[in-house]
Amino acid sequence: MALQFYNTLSRRKEKFEPLRGKKIGLYSCGPTVYNFAHIGNLRSYVFVDLLKRYLEWKGYAVTHVMNVTDVDDKTIRGAKQEGVPLRIFTERYEKAFFDDLSSLNVEPATVYPRATEHVGGMIKLIQKLLDDGIAYKKEDGVYFAISSFKKYGALSHLNRESLKSGASGVRADEYAKDAAADFALWKAWDAADGDVFWEAPFGRGRPGWHIECSAMSSKYLGDSFDIHTGGVDLVFPHHENEIAQSEAVSGKKFVKYWMHCEHLMVDGRKMAKSLGNFYTLRDIEERKGDAMALRYLLISTHYRSQLNFTFDALEQAKNTVDSLNDFAERLREAKGKGDPARVADMVAQAKRKFEAYMDDDLNVAYALTVVFDFVHEANKMLAAGEMDRVSAKEALAFIEDVDRVLGVLSKRKKRAVSAEVRELVDGREAARKKGDFKEADRLRAALREKGVVLEDSKEGVRIKWLDS
Ligand code: AMP
Ligand code: ZN
Repeated sequence: MALQFYNTLSRRKEKFEPLRGKKIGLYSCGPTVYNFAHIGNLRSYVFVDLLKRYLEWKGYAVTHVMNVTDVDDKTIRGAKQEGVPLRIFTERYEKAFFDDLSSLNVEPATVYPRATEHVGGMIKLIQKLLDDGIAYKKEDGVYFAISSFKKYGALSHLNRESLKSGASGVRADEYAKDAAADFALWKAWDAADGDVFWEAPFGRGRPGWHIECSAMSSKYLGDSFDIHTGGVDLVFPHHENEIAQSEAVSGKKFVKYWMHCEHLMVDGRKMAKSLGNFYTLRDIEERKGDAMALRYLLISTHYRSQLNFTFDALEQAKNTVDSLNDFAERLREAKGKGDPARVADMVAQAKRKFEAYMDDDLNVAYALTVVFDFVHEANKMLAAGEMDRVSAKEALAFIEDVDRVLGVLSKRKKRAVSAEVRELVDGREAARKKGDFKEADRLRAALREKGVVLEDSKEGVRIKWLDS
């Protein structure tokens, strides 16, 4: 089966046929830096990371653009409440955002353009829309006339009859589907904006949120590109408005595949700042949750399914990630006797199935069962001493290859074992061999005090660190 993705535009899975061969243009709506991201927001970024890593795994070269919204209604309000300049306010949350991405092992995008640094491009787009009679000026700003864009509503499947075009445009960045109306491209300065404004031929003001993404995507990816992502709540109005603006200016199809990530839920409700039911990565870490476990939890459910967050599920994810790391460690140490052809065959089959599932709109849950069936089988071989070095190397290469997509294995080097720990381990071995189990237990407890646990296997004793 060829690679296929579910396209929100057509509401079905479509074969992935990129516009420019192996070179992919990918745009993701990034954070609005007015607060710490919650783990629901982070789900949508981890989803893009999975998508991008998989495309790279398949041999595509991805140019990934993720904007940073550092001027909008919410950032201006926040800066004002704190009485600090906008940039001082947004800088803090922008930094926290990048810290979160790095904790979650998210590969950096090619570029993270800030809205405030691209206002010139936005002004040009708005001017063109005015010149073409698609936008019009009002007292409080410039508005996009949705009646002039015939395809308005195609992405969110709006009923065109219900659309209100004309005098009562919406100025707010966010509004519901039933309030669909002409929307603000440019918001004329008012006292609440303080010193946040730019001069434009159509008056002093600031851009609306939607035009930001149209300007930044075309600057870095051109008028048409392959994939645009975001959370499902962005389908309307944000992405609908992006399409209208971009296509009205360029006359070309803006985006070929629209991919949207479902929500992270808590007790059946969307995790949201406005509902107060959210956790940030900091909250998770304070409760001794692990970022890699969170990453695993977020990617292991299909991106188009809602995912209910619980600490129990996080704990289970931690056990799974630990078991994968453990498996990798065991393979590094394997020195049994076995048949390399058997593992070569297991790897070939697992890889083929993994790819087939991932090709099917990133069916990661099924792809993971393939990986864990493989781990289960190989673990049995390890326990029976049937894993020779060549096979172990091949099995490890497979797990590491899969992890180029999953990104959950810890990169740690083998930890050095101190002389003191080595002495305790050897002492325990000697005591055990002599049948002095009391002494062996005493030494095992002493090791535990030092954060070391021992695992006995056919291939001898293994050292495990409690804190890794
Ligand atoms: P915002 O910073 O509010 O613009 O949101 C950033 C991204 O997070 C957007 O792509 C939203 O669609 C997404 N998002 C917001 N809440 C959730 C949630 N509970 N689960 C998944 N994604 C979300
Ligand atoms: Zn956007």
